Amino acid sequence: MSPRFSFEFFPPKTPAGKEKLQTVRAELAELDPSFFSVTYGAGGSTRDNTKNIVLETKAAGLSVAPHLSFGGDDEETVLSLINDYKNAGVDRMVALRGDVPSGMGATRLIYARELVEFVRKHTGDHFEIEVAAYPEIHPDAPSYAKDIDYLKQKLDAGANSAITQYFFNADAYFYFLEDCEKAGIDKPIYPGIMPITNFTNLARFSRNCGADIPRWLTQKLSGYGDDQESVTKFGEEFVTELCQILMEGGAPGIHFYTMNQVEPVKRMLQELQR
Ligand code: FAD
Repeated sequence: MSPRFSFEFFPPKTPAGKEKLQTVRAELAELDPSFFSVTYGAGGSTRDNTKNIVLETKAAGLSVAPHLSFGGDDEETVLSLINDYKNAGVDRMVALRGDVPSGMGATRLIYARELVEFVRKHTGDHFEIEVAAYPEIHPDAPSYAKDIDYLKQKLDAGANSAITQYFFNADAYFYFLEDCEKAGIDKPIYPGIMPITNFTNLARFSRNCGADIPRWLTQKLSGYGDDQESVTKFGEEFVTELCQILMEGGAPGIHFYTMNQVEPVKRMLQELQR
């Protein structure tokens, strides 16, 4: 089976961002991805924005997966959104617990497993459902083994496959796959890959989501200082090589966190497909 490639967007806030995304999407569509996905601000902060981008992508004849989480929303609100997607012919979804943005109060976070169960209960097999996986283990997880067990629960509840948090260490992914297999997981786990373009932003984001940037990589990237060109050049070479190692090691495809940019994802994918 040929590898599956997919591209993730976030919903832009400004009219200029929305317009730019249309161009980015058209250019990335030429690479024939299996689907695009569009992130969702848990707590409903991007509910309309995400939905608009998803429906627009679907209307452009492309396969698209909205990300979704309960956040603080009630079942009726979430079901109405799911039905809107279904009625528009959207047949994929990324089901998440999400992280409620600070300032939104003490919302009970609903585990992704419960959302998978909810979607299956109300729409049967209509959606191909992805869930999140964490080769470096989710920051809230009680233990490595428990995190894998909870991933298994999400997949057993009816998710079709998983996409990982990004990572820069191929071994983390391969050990994780091995441990998932030992735990009885037999569904595909697609590596999520983050291009390296801006080290300061990447370092901040990685601290929040628990993704490890190896010390040598931190030193190398921060050593470039303001030399953005060198960061981008090295980042692209390094991440392309990471993707090659993953694919050669048996990864079933790659999900790219595009950050709404055509490059460097386009060049990296072209290199991989050579
Ligand atoms: P869950 O699978 O519910 O797990 C959350 C935590 O709870 C884990 O630590 C797990 O070990 C633990 N856990 C699970 N079940 C139980 C249980 N029964 N008892 C005790 N502990 C349990 N965030 C967004 O806000 N919007 C997005 O669009 C978005 N897209 C993402 C896409 C991908 C591919 C990935 C990898 C992450 C994405 N995230 C997104 C981030 C994600 O929402 C956060 O990492 C969030 O903190 C966990 O979501 P989850 O679906 O993995 O949660």
